[in-house]
Amino acid sequence: MADRVKISPFQGILRHLCPRCRTGKIYPTSIFSSLPKMNDECAVCHLWFEREEGYFLGAMIIDYALAMLTTTVIGAILWTFTHWSFEKLCVVAILLFLPAVPAVTRLGRVLWIYIDRFIDPER
Ligand SMILES: [Zn+2]
Repeated sequence: MADRVKISPFQGILRHLCPRCRTGKIYPTSIFSSLPKMNDECAVCHLWFEREEGYFLGAMIIDYALAMLTTTVIGAILWTFTHWSFEKLCVVAILLFLPAVPAVTRLGRVLWIYIDRFIDPER
């Protein structure tokens, strides 16, 4: 419990920690070591991360928003230096974004779990 006091929700999201105890990991491995596979439950407090069938459909909305935001920022930065056409900016921004898709997908799921647990902590 002492660790929970020290770790803020923001830090928990960045470190992909369980929203209840903020000690157990949501993902068992680093994103660089294997394909993204979640733990079913927290190893510390046994919170089930996937509350129901199709639970992570909400995470897809967050993934989409993060992808749109990131590609827009990449496109704006590119436009500042190149003044390419809109179509070319879109294609290049999406291609530059593709390597970040696994990280964004993980972050989207973690954000979804935190938002859902914030709105409805004990269901
Ligand atoms: Zn936990």
